Amino acid sequence: MAAPTETLFREDAYLSTAEGEVVGLNDRGGILLDRTNFYATSGGQPGDTGFFERPDGSRIAIAGTITGETKNEIIHVPAPGQALPAVGETLVLHIDWARRYRLMRMHTACHLLSVVCPFPITGAAVGEDDSRVDLDLPDAGVTKEGVTEELMKLVNANHPVFTRWITEEELNANPGLVKSKNVRPPVGAGRIRLVCIGENAVIDSQPCGGTHVSETQEVGEIHIGKIEKKGRENRRFRIRFGAMPAN
Ligand SMILES: [Zn+2]
Repeated sequence: MAAPTETLFREDAYLSTAEGEVVGLNDRGGILLDRTNFYATSGGQPGDTGFFERPDGSRIAIAGTITGETKNEIIHVPAPGQALPAVGETLVLHIDWARRYRLMRMHTACHLLSVVCPFPITGAAVGEDDSRVDLDLPDAGVTKEGVTEELMKLVNANHPVFTRWITEEELNANPGLVKSKNVRPPVGAGRIRLVCIGENAVIDSQPCGGTHVSETQEVGEIHIGKIEKKGRENRRFRIRFGAMPAN
């Protein structure tokens, strides 16, 4: 039990379908595969939903994806009442791509916010319509209009977004890479995945295990819906899709 799942989404976030073989079912009906394109809830990004297609053409609706004992053990949670596959069965794994793509756009927008407001991140939650990022920002000398304008400059500049792997030694030599105060970067087998923005990562690079779009323009139009005060030194930013509503 608990064999690591090959995580296809780490190398290709755009893999909306893939094939995987059932290697186990846990005692709560969770499906374990040898490989998956389904992202599991982690780092503030919700896990994927979608369906698995069985060899006979029938479908298993997947209500969520979570990690097990380690981040490399991925559990696909079927919706209630679904028939379960047999171990050894090969399934075609279909992500709810419209939902995932919105999450990828939003997740990338959260990185852009951390460029515009370069303060330690104390929390984040990526959503389909609304994301929040909590920043350790003592004085709210920032406005939602001003931050929105800077965000849209980065979106419109269409910077490339890519990943690269570094060693733990390189990370330890560059502690400034880690912007998150409470979340440890995804470390595994001595290497860390960096998400980079801009040619040669000139705009940003930070450890992250989530899924992102490949060019900032794909984020599309976004705005800061709200900046809330959360405690003396914390500001909660809410990122939303679309133009800022006139008020
Ligand atoms: Zn990320």
